[in-house]
Amino acid sequence: MNFKKFIAAALVLGLITGTAACGKSAEDVKTVKIAYLPLTHALPVFVENELQDKAGQKYKIELIKYGSWPELMDALNTGHVDGASVLIELAMKAKEQGVGVKAVALGHKDGNVIVASKNIKSVSDLKGKKFAIPHRQSSHNILLGQMLKNAGLSYKDVNIVELPPPEMPAALAQGQIAGYSVAEPFGAKSVALSTGKVLFESNELWKDSICCSLVLSDKFISSNKDATKEVVSNYREAGEYIGSHKDEANTIAKKYLNLDDKVLDLSMKWISYNDLEITREAYDSLTSKIKEFGISSNPPAYDDFVDSSLSGK
Ligand code: ZN
Repeated sequence: MNFKKFIAAALVLGLITGTAACGKSAEDVKTVKIAYLPLTHALPVFVENELQDKAGQKYKIELIKYGSWPELMDALNTGHVDGASVLIELAMKAKEQGVGVKAVALGHKDGNVIVASKNIKSVSDLKGKKFAIPHRQSSHNILLGQMLKNAGLSYKDVNIVELPPPEMPAALAQGQIAGYSVAEPFGAKSVALSTGKVLFESNELWKDSICCSLVLSDKFISSNKDATKEVVSNYREAGEYIGSHKDEANTIAKKYLNLDDKVLDLSMKWISYNDLEITREAYDSLTSKIKEFGISSNPPAYDDFVDSSLSGK
């Protein structure tokens, strides 16, 4: 080999080994950007974030806080984040519209209430009054529809308004609305302040209800298979940790949610985070309610939207 050929071969070898080394180190500590709203329902991502940096971990979570569902969905739909803890109906609607996202775990189990002002004695007292939900695409809308149906009423009997979750307790206290259903801790706030009462807990209206989900973009999943498996498995471990380490979980919740103990205790009483698998049975019940209550006529099928290889244990 002459000198020129030797240099060329050395350069090629250097490029190959250099590329391989770069690829390995990038894979070792892949950053995964997860969007969230400051809700009790997003607690597993807060706990996963706090418990991360395990030896040999292939990813690092970067949590990005948003102020409203439309802002968060915009970030997810445009690829500014790799995933989100989000109302599952919003992610299903994005999927319907062609955005490449998959649901990989539940956000929580149960944990929603229907709150009403104290002078509302029964569902029929809500007739003609304003009732707030966070978004038409939400399980809160389904819970409202189910409650009305059980009482022989329908959506037409109430005046439904969409409000940002943090505004609902004040709107109820000031008499602007007669009731609301929304992600926690905003139901607990009215109950703790005695400006509202629980009319129903979600499990009285809809057994094994699905509300929030951890979703990841198809792009992130397909280019980071090993890291994705770890993200989801550690997320589900974080859910189990909340059940077995209540004091530590409450400390983490307060760090992200700025809540007093009374509101947090009440909120946590209604919710659980064990076994966050999205089962086909619970998802099919969700899609049939989405159709029944006119939220969407064409929700994505389980096999298209739920990554059961990641969602299951
Ligand atoms: Zn939720």
